[in-house]
Formats: sequence, structure tokens, C-alpha cells
Amino acid sequence: MGTLRVGSAEAEPGALAHGAIRVGSLADGSEVNVPVVLVNGASEGRRVFLQAAVHGVEVNPIESVRRVIAELDPAELSGQVVVVTPANPLGFRHHDRHNITDGEDVNRVWPGAADGGLAQRIAYAIYEEAVRGSDLVVDLHTGFSTMITHTVFAEGDPASEQLARCFGTEYLIMEEQDEDWERARFSGKLRNVANAEGIPAITPELGGHSKFEGNQIQSGVMGITNVLAQYGFLRGDVVVPHRQIVIRNHLTRVTADEGGIFVATVRPGQEVWETQELGYIYTPGNFEIVETVRAPFDAVVVYHAEDPVVSTGDTLVNLGRRKR
Ligand SMILES: [Zn+2]
Repeated sequence: MGTLRVGSAEAEPGALAHGAIRVGSLADGSEVNVPVVLVNGASEGRRVFLQAAVHGVEVNPIESVRRVIAELDPAELSGQVVVVTPANPLGFRHHDRHNITDGEDVNRVWPGAADGGLAQRIAYAIYEEAVRGSDLVVDLHTGFSTMITHTVFAEGDPASEQLARCFGTEYLIMEEQDEDWERARFSGKLRNVANAEGIPAITPELGGHSKFEGNQIQSGVMGITNVLAQYGFLRGDVVVPHRQIVIRNHLTRVTADEGGIFVATVRPGQEVWETQELGYIYTPGNFEIVETVRAPFDAVVVYHAEDPVVSTGDTLVNLGRRKR
């Protein structure tokens, strides 16, 4: 196994290196670079690509990856670990989910374009330099504090399902490709683009954004460590829950008909039946209940709104169907 090169980073076998992938520059001449950390194992093995903060506000996974890398001894590693974080450097700098120059969601434009807008060029640079040549892709995200910790994989991709199961979250979401999926531009997610090229890929969702949540960071550490053990990078046991619950899709949103303050009466992960109450909305001026919100079908609660202040049309609860 020779020297590992990604962007400006070069790691000899048995060594760790830092560097950057250059994307371009801003109006004031400052560089747009994507940072990269390489751990090149002393012995042969697979290559795993770990990414965090492609949405600029998703900090928990950065800390998870940092803790894992801090404990990694390249001399003990078989294979190569390629880390890119923050994968959306301008969004990260401005506490923004999107790329700030074009307002684009970098996780809808994979595999990017060499001659595209800046978000597309960020994706293109990362894809060409760091994703290509990888055997596994773990694209770490966060959603809400009021969401189940889960790992997403594509339906009909058993290699990705195996990767998702070994990451070890209690809940797994199996993503089906339907019209909603197409409309939400999910074909431009890194995970789906990697899958299309035959690379097993998963999206762990570890808690909320813009704040550290200790248990979520620890879930990330456990998950990455499990992947390294399962795929032969490190010696060690894979620790997964006795029971993992698979939910089909996560695009069903229950929305508000009336505005007000939403009080959820269910918790993330709870199984609910058709017509069961999910919560209610009241008017803050007079405390009058203006809407009782009910489940449209038997489901598992994936998340409920983090911010209780809602207007007509806002998402209140996100539901998935449990796979039996
Ligand atoms: Zn995200």
C-alpha cells in the first residue's frame, strides 16, 4: 500500500496527514478549500470515506470523527481512512446549512460539476479527489433534537444495509425511491450517487444542529468504530443493539392546518396507530385549542417539530412505516 494522496495531503503507510482540496476563491481573493485528514494504515485493507458537516450547522458528527481519529494508531490500522470535514466550508463558517454564495444545498448536487456553481464545484472536488476509490462511504449528519437517532440506507442495496446495521443505531430508515424522493432531489445526495457507482453508503443522523449533544456524539463514535471493526480496519468487537427497528421512508409529513403553538403528545420512536392523537395546536392569545393532530396511518414517529411556534402548512410530525 503506497502513499495516500488527497488534495494537498500526503500520508505514507503508517502515517496521518492533513491538507486541503482546493475548490476556488471568493471575491476578496480568499481561498475556498475543503479540509482533509488522511490516516494511511501500515497494512493493506479497504478505504473508508468519512464526511461530516456537508450541512454547515451539523457539528455533532465533527466531534465524533475527531474523537475516533484521536484514538487511531496508523501503525495498527489495516486500510485507509479519508476524512472530509467541514464538507461545506462556507456554510460552516457562517453557521448556515447551505453553501452561502449560491444558497444551494451541497447534499443535493452530487456528484457535482467541474464547471458548475460553487456548491457543485465543492461536491465535484470532494467526489473526484476523495470519494472515488473508496470502498465505503459514511456521510454523517444531524437532524433535530426531537428526532430518533437513525441511519439511512437505500432499499434494495444489501451491502449498504449491512453497513447501516453495523453502524449500530437502534433505528434504521430504509429509503424507497418514489416520486417524493425525486421531487426532494434525493438523487443528488452523496449516499445515492455512491450507491449508483456500487459503493455501499449510509447517512447516520445524530441529533440536532448547532449544539453538542453528548449521547449523539457517542453514538457517532460507536458507529464509526463499529464500521472500522466490521470491515477489518481494526481489531475489535462490533457492538450493536440486540434489536434494530427498520422504518420505511421518512418523507411523510403531518402539517398544520391552523397556526399557533404545537404541543406534541407523542415522542420520537413511538409507534402510533391511524387516528391516534399526535398533538394539538392552541392560540397563544387565549389558549383555545384550534386543532387536534392525528396520525393518517399506523406509523413510527421519526421526529416532531423542534420549534412549537407554527403557522398553517408547517411540519408538525414526520412519520415512517415500520417494516415488518
Ligand atoms: Zn444534513
